[in-house]
Amino acid sequence: MTLQELSAHVAAEFKKTYGRPPRWIVAAPGRVNVIGEHTDYNDGFVLPMAIEYYAVMAADAGATPGTVAIYDTQFKETATIDVSAAVTKGQPKWSNYIRGAIAGFQNRGVKIPALDVAFMSTVPLGGGLSSSAALEVCTATLIEAATGKTIDPIEKALLAQKAEHDFAGVPCGIMDQFISALGREGHLLLLDCRTRKTELVPMSDPAVALLIINTNVKHELGSGEYAKRRAECEEAARILGVASLRDATPDQLERAKSKMTDVVFRRARHVIGEIERTVHAAEGIRQSNWPTVGQFMYASHAALRDDYEVSCKELDVVVDIAEDIGFKGGVYGCRMTGGGFGGCCVALVKAEAIEAITKKIATDYKAKTGIDAVIFSSRPAAGATIIKG
Ligand code: ADP
Ligand code: MG
Repeated sequence: MTLQELSAHVAAEFKKTYGRPPRWIVAAPGRVNVIGEHTDYNDGFVLPMAIEYYAVMAADAGATPGTVAIYDTQFKETATIDVSAAVTKGQPKWSNYIRGAIAGFQNRGVKIPALDVAFMSTVPLGGGLSSSAALEVCTATLIEAATGKTIDPIEKALLAQKAEHDFAGVPCGIMDQFISALGREGHLLLLDCRTRKTELVPMSDPAVALLIINTNVKHELGSGEYAKRRAECEEAARILGVASLRDATPDQLERAKSKMTDVVFRRARHVIGEIERTVHAAEGIRQSNWPTVGQFMYASHAALRDDYEVSCKELDVVVDIAEDIGFKGGVYGCRMTGGGFGGCCVALVKAEAIEAITKKIATDYKAKTGIDAVIFSSRPAAGATIIKG
């Protein structure tokens, strides 16, 4: 579904639900991280792209004073939020992403009007493509449209991040909300997680596309292992005498090898290497040097698998299949994306070969794991937009 079709669909759903057409329609995309994994909390770089899958909200001034009513057209459930006082956490659970974003505006002194809202998201839920950030940034964009109080996109991203921290209890970094708020069609976003400086990296070559392969597994190691990795990175930085691994070079790490355990050394080797790979991959994309970008993606996966140890069998199977298809079959590179232990892979492919590659990965993945993967392609999409308003 194109964004146009999706917004027409949500507008129709709004009309069905509330008996009148919507006055505002807004959208915010999900994302995939092309390279730069587990670098964010080490003050490093990430290189995400907004995908052509969105949360869309259609709205009008609300019928009930002091109330924002939001109808989820997929799950056929309505959240009713009291906005006459400071918005708090509440039910249903998914409404907390919305509550958090609304609270962010209240904290900035914005009075929230009564609203009737219908929404739908084509970002797969919980698949590592950030349906949560899409929902937060979409809500923030709706409040901007409905109140006329627009805020700087970076401030909007930070507001959405705070919603995720405080209302969903997820201590996420800044990537998801930044790309959903600041993405630009035909561009990736090189984001410096230390300075929050962003740089748009053009990628509009019609000959290439990104393929997202959802392994449809999620191993429940996630949060405990994540905390361990963070602690190991901090230990490496301490031994190296730097504020964070962003400040360390491969040489420095090599020289300090005897002072740390093998595990801590390998964790640091991934992070320091990955920060370099991300910057170089961005340069490769600027020059449309796809084979080089693909090599960085494979190298990223190998480091995540062997040094950082956050991959899993299913992710490795996908990357192995991609390597088998190879350059001749139209695959430049492939890697796991997101925190790991399941979720998605991202592959850089020749656009003309998308169909054949999709079929081959689906068939071989099923044969090797017994699981059906979900595979789709996307070009770099635009960040949050007001479609009508
Ligand atoms: P991800 O952001 O990778 O998709 P998260 O666990 O961070 O995974 O966020 C998923 C959660 O976001 C869902 O469990 C749900 O609570 C909420 N959510 C996102 N989009 C929707 C939607 N369209 N309808 C209901 N809930 C949604
Ligand atoms: Mg999320």
